[in-house]
Amino acid sequence: MSEEIKLHKNEGIKLGSQQLRGTIAQELAACTPGQKPFGDESEQLIKFHGFYQQDDRDQRREKNPDGTPKAKEYSFMVRSRIPGGKVTARQMLAELDLCDRFGNGTLRITTRQGLQLHGVLCQNLKATIREINEIKLSTLAACGDVSRNVMCCPAPFHGDSVRRDMQAMADRLADHLKPRTTAYYEIWLSDENGEKTNVAEPFRPVEEPIYGATYLPRKFKAGVALPEDNCIDIYTQDLGLLAIVEHGKIVGYNVLVGGGMGVTPSAKKTFPALAKPMAFVSPEQVLAVAENVVKVQRDFGNRADRKLARLKYLIANWGIEKFKAKVEEYYGQSLAAPRPVEVTDVDDHIGWHEQGDGKLFLGINVENGRIKDEGTLRIKSGLRAIFSKYGMEARLTPLQGIILCNISPQDRAGVDALLREYGIPAAEELTLVRRYSMACPAWPTCGLAVTESERALPGILDAMEAELRRQGLQGERISVHMTGCPNGCARPYTPDIGLVGKAAGERYTVFLGGNVQGTRLAYLFQDMVPKAEIVPALAPVFARFKAERQVGESFGDFCHRVGKASLAPAAVEASASEE
Ligand code: SF4
Repeated sequence: MSEEIKLHKNEGIKLGSQQLRGTIAQELAACTPGQKPFGDESEQLIKFHGFYQQDDRDQRREKNPDGTPKAKEYSFMVRSRIPGGKVTARQMLAELDLCDRFGNGTLRITTRQGLQLHGVLCQNLKATIREINEIKLSTLAACGDVSRNVMCCPAPFHGDSVRRDMQAMADRLADHLKPRTTAYYEIWLSDENGEKTNVAEPFRPVEEPIYGATYLPRKFKAGVALPEDNCIDIYTQDLGLLAIVEHGKIVGYNVLVGGGMGVTPSAKKTFPALAKPMAFVSPEQVLAVAENVVKVQRDFGNRADRKLARLKYLIANWGIEKFKAKVEEYYGQSLAAPRPVEVTDVDDHIGWHEQGDGKLFLGINVENGRIKDEGTLRIKSGLRAIFSKYGMEARLTPLQGIILCNISPQDRAGVDALLREYGIPAAEELTLVRRYSMACPAWPTCGLAVTESERALPGILDAMEAELRRQGLQGERISVHMTGCPNGCARPYTPDIGLVGKAAGERYTVFLGGNVQGTRLAYLFQDMVPKAEIVPALAPVFARFKAERQVGESFGDFCHRVGKASLAPAAVEASASEE
């Protein structure tokens, strides 16, 4: 007799939620400042609607005058899903206004080209989500066990149709994989008196043709890239579309499947994985093939253990051939073998560039994506001034920057003047290590963070820049991705240097040997490294890189070539000799 599999409790929550309604509307109506707005079940369901319930973890450390811990203050992170990070000036200005009116005064560009508001109180949730929809953005499926924001290389090169066709594909894919439930519209977009909401009426299900009643076992990430510009980190996606270009036109896509970064240290069976090439498809086949990849994961992904529920584990268990055969069975046709095409490079798109149509674009680095005013660096006010004056379209980048598009050459000097006025550095004023760095939010808002990330990385980069300068390596392009826990939201297992929060007391696991192109996994270099020891631990490796590198070899390629066994003793000896 076969053993009955006990499903994870979230499966029951999804199944019983009446297509993601649950009791969200009722709990929202009853929300009282100072109390926890959503209970455990709704806390899972609200993610599908694009927001997370959080509390300020800094504030948890504070005490009342009598020494008792202060009550938690709950607020929400609200994420807009923006395929390819394509936004208008009006949308950016509205999101900036929302962060001031309802958030904590900062707006964050995410590592998946979305926008996040932080610190939204429950009484402002409905107005926030409604206003996001009024500017024709959405938070639906920005989080949750569904296909999330579809990424796409955002560089607006208009000399040919390639980037435009990629963006159109990202838009179509995002639309195709969007949940069909009407719960989102009923809860968030009903009128002020709730008269148009159906929450009190009998539940009438709509067809959810791709996801079914319980959606996916876990989150699902997709993106579109070019071989010569892997800025979206295609190998970290559950579903990657690598555009194959011939004579300036996209002839099809290599479909890559099963990438994913998350690791749970306590669960030994978890691991980061690179997506594997599965098939070559024509542009006309993409949506149907993508849909069937999702459906196979829907039907065969692990619904008992969420730690093993991502597509990468199904593919690891089955092997890519069996997975492809199942997708073909669902699709009803065999699929061509993937083309022998490799990722060769990456670009952060920062600085001034010609678009190819007579206009210019300008990529602006936003450290860790946090749009705010702090001291003399007033990115929030600067972007407001630029968007208000010029009204250009913009693109959010996967490295958490922003591209201002369609700038007339005669406006370049005016835009530069505004950048200077608001203290926003030009590309040439930033080191490549800072431009190619990113961090997840971690403390104080992420409930899973074990260490700092966004607040720690700027200081670590200060020290790293000084060390690289000292060694004459300041011109090297070295990517550094940092996270506050092993879940890997800032994709820390593929860059040259990955810093992953491991334990309280600001201790990190340091990974080396990936590369800026994101084509291979890094290896664990040192574990439990205190924050202050990270750069000292890397200094001897930088020294060996300088002394032993081959012509044209990057830092990551060097670390990969010589390997952990060779590098780790150098670091250990160096730290011992300094004692
Ligand atoms: Fe939170 Fe961990 Fe993701 Fe960072 S990587 S945002 S700490 S879950």
